[in-house]
Amino acid sequence: MIDKKKLGIYVHIPFCIRKCLYCDFLSDTADTNVRKQYIEALVNEICSCPLKDIDYKSQYTVDTIFFGGGTPSVLEGDQIDEIMKALAFRFDISKVREVTIECNPGTATLDKLESYKKSGINRLSIGLQSANDDELKTLGRIHDYKQFLETFKMAREAGFDNINIDLMSAIPGQSLDSYKDTLNKVISLTPEHISSYSLIIEEGTPFYDMYGESGPDEPDEDTEREMYYMTERLLNEAGYHRYEISNYSLEGYECRHNSSYWTGTDYIGLGIGAASLIDGVRYSNTSDLYSYMKACSKAAEVLTEEYRILSQNERMEEFMFLGLRMIRGISAKEFKERFSQDIYAVYAKPLEKLVKDGLIIINGDNIKLTSKGIDVSNTALANFLL
Ligand code: SF4
Repeated sequence: MIDKKKLGIYVHIPFCIRKCLYCDFLSDTADTNVRKQYIEALVNEICSCPLKDIDYKSQYTVDTIFFGGGTPSVLEGDQIDEIMKALAFRFDISKVREVTIECNPGTATLDKLESYKKSGINRLSIGLQSANDDELKTLGRIHDYKQFLETFKMAREAGFDNINIDLMSAIPGQSLDSYKDTLNKVISLTPEHISSYSLIIEEGTPFYDMYGESGPDEPDEDTEREMYYMTERLLNEAGYHRYEISNYSLEGYECRHNSSYWTGTDYIGLGIGAASLIDGVRYSNTSDLYSYMKACSKAAEVLTEEYRILSQNERMEEFMFLGLRMIRGISAKEFKERFSQDIYAVYAKPLEKLVKDGLIIINGDNIKLTSKGIDVSNTALANFLL
């Protein structure tokens, strides 16, 4: 019997109750009717997505599924169930290990969470961002900290034993003390996983008009850096280990789905704007909601906006960028197996320079960023552009 390849599935739910002021994700508000039409289109895409005309069931076994958005938890339990059933029809999900849904406080009820659980969701990712209500207001979030606590409690009650909490640092007006308070409050709840990203103000968002790329209310560079160090220090002390630049977990609770992106597993993206990478070919669905729903209303001729075979160089770059974000780093042997080239020949100069600068460490087969390298990861990783 031929071993089936592993597959990750990403399902995009582009709806939110209200747009946050810093958000540049593909998401918007929509009434229940539009959501209903979208689910129909999505189910059509799932059941007959033509990507490479592959018989996914016989060639792949799904390892992880991730419902991201947007706010997937605006969907009712039966809508998630319908999507899960469609996935089971098209893909082999019998051995799926991790099924995550992103959930925002203010959109979940106990009934809904229990229903998600019954449909096979076994991991929740709750978007808290901050435990400070003024900061939540600044961000334009729909919830306060109390609502988050209720959501977290309901999630435990519904039986979720694998929960991520998303946090944010460098929020305008945020002090070191208030970020520390957020970290401590979250730690006291002992979620299995914590992510903390530094806010980046993107052009085209209301925040950009209000603050510019780095406005006067934003924490200065030193404070931002201290927040970054504090995240690692406090989370380590509390038993969380950092396995990716912005991600921490208790032992055994690393996010399998994200790790599979970072380690180059094939994945398929379903829904608007979703990207797939199958056998080195990248596909992206149209980002236009109405074009997507129109196309999928018939026989799932999903509008592929982009279809591109990645060059060997692009794949090698991706391997380095994503692999080195993982704290454990990459394997030179795996590079050779994948690309039939020696990493020390392809990247001789950058590796030599980064080792000399103390940003990379090579130990036998393993290559990884040092602590200093992690601090300046964007600059360090830019060296691997071919
Ligand atoms: S909840 Fe998330 S996706 Fe929705 S508007 Fe806010 S940041 Fe964007």
